Amino acid sequence: MTPRPIEIIGGGLAGLALGCALRREGVEVTLHEAGDYPRHRVCGEFIAGLRPATIARLGLGPMLAGAIEHRRVAWFLRNAPPHSHTLPAPAIALSRFALDARLAATFTALGGDLRLRSRVAAVEPRAGRVFATGRRRQTASPWLGLKLHAHGLSLAQDLEMHLGENCYVGLARIEDGGVNVCGLFRRGLAAGTGATLLLNCLRAAGLAALADRIARARIDPASVCAVAGVAFDRRPPPTTRLCLGDTLAMIPPFTGNGMAMAFQSAELALAPLLAYARGTAPWAEALRAAQRAQRNKFRMRLVSADALHPFLLGRRRQRWLAALGRARLLPFRPLFAALH
Ligand SMILES: Cc1cc2nc3c(=O)[nH]c(=O)nc-3n(C[C@H](O)[C@H](O)[C@H](O)COP(=O)(O)OP(=O)(O)OC[C@H]3O[C@@H](n4cnc5c(N)ncnc54)[C@H](O)[C@@H]3O)c2cc1C
Repeated sequence: MTPRPIEIIGGGLAGLALGCALRREGVEVTLHEAGDYPRHRVCGEFIAGLRPATIARLGLGPMLAGAIEHRRVAWFLRNAPPHSHTLPAPAIALSRFALDARLAATFTALGGDLRLRSRVAAVEPRAGRVFATGRRRQTASPWLGLKLHAHGLSLAQDLEMHLGENCYVGLARIEDGGVNVCGLFRRGLAAGTGATLLLNCLRAAGLAALADRIARARIDPASVCAVAGVAFDRRPPPTTRLCLGDTLAMIPPFTGNGMAMAFQSAELALAPLLAYARGTAPWAEALRAAQRAQRNKFRMRLVSADALHPFLLGRRRQRWLAALGRARLLPFRPLFAALH
């Protein structure tokens, strides 16, 4: 065991992946998670930009077993015929129900101390403490995330992206023949609860044909979840805190890169944290090294994603984007590279 322990607050992808990697190096790790596993999360469950080096460094291979590979995307602007293209690099999809539970089981099997239903309130930063508590909520944010799993739903391509009035929705095949339906909607678009809220939002956003397709499929009621207050806060976290994943910065979901960023932020923090845990670097040095690496890796990616995001949401900009796509003038490859 190394001389200095690490404490992680938040057992989502970032916290658990870091915890597993540290345990493999013999570091004593305690991880506090407010919830339990397995459980459904609001997430498109489509992972783009996760590189083999990150999978290897964090030992994620077995956890991603059974993930579905995606290559073709069909874009739909309201009910117009789709525009399809091939992703410059294949992406994968796997439910968070499976992925988070596998990571948690691995962390425990590696000897990590996992404290479930342990919501840590108002903790101050201190040496060896890592914050991976997920997105920073803003109650005033106009954005609402909704997700469900459906069976018996055939897709035009591996992945469908639908642009509606003040919303976008992705459909991705996941393991066991299911389809993830997940969207970002402007709050107050429609009323309802559970799957009905998602279907009502789609209809209110001009996506009635999609709502009818989903309504005809077999919806798993246990998979339906919602999250309000989704915000893309670009203020850097306090320099005294080592933050990972969405706590560091949340990239707009259309990129399908939030999960990869959660893993990459853990990967970038790993070497500095190992130096601290082994007693070869003071905490302040480890903190600065991790923050510098994260800034260098993510700054331009976030700027690019924020610049593109409004084009997926407003009617006029969506039309402009669709026209460029039809004319084959959208530079998919450079855009994909900038966003991942
Ligand atoms: C609508 C929507 C669609 C998305 N679609 C995609 C997609 O298709 N592809 C993609 O890559 N990304 C997508 N994302 C983003 C992705 O879900 C996140 O980027 C990812 O979950 C970040 O992982 P994380 O570990 O940082 O946070 P999380 O997975 O949110 O985990 C944080 C954990 O911390 C715990 N926690 C919080 N506070 C405390 C506390 N005080 N004490 C203890 N525990 C605490 C929580 O219970 C949670 O388990 C989407 C997001 C939204 C909103």
